[in-house]
Amino acid sequence: MRKNILALIIITAILVTTVFASRPLFDPTGTRRLVGSMKSNVYHWDDCKFVKKINPDYLFYFANPETAAKMLYKPCMRCNPPVKSKPLRTEKIE
Ligand SMILES: [Zn+2]
Repeated sequence: MRKNILALIIITAILVTTVFASRPLFDPTGTRRLVGSMKSNVYHWDDCKFVKKINPDYLFYFANPETAAKMLYKPCMRCNPPVKSKPLRTEKIE
């Protein structure tokens, strides 16, 4: 009986870890990412209409808004992505 409960706890822990690991750090809702194009100096939310016009070959994702700023990228005027991360989580994306 005890073994079953232990197994259940372990499975739950694995599931929770997997779900959280797949979420971007700057967005607690985990549904949107920051996108940049190598051909411009503007970054967007990934659901911005301008992102659809970016050639996928030049498209990449930012780990957080600070990285975008360091690379001299500016937030899009239309989709208004964040300029700063929310300091909720501190893990690093490698
Ligand atoms: Zn945009």
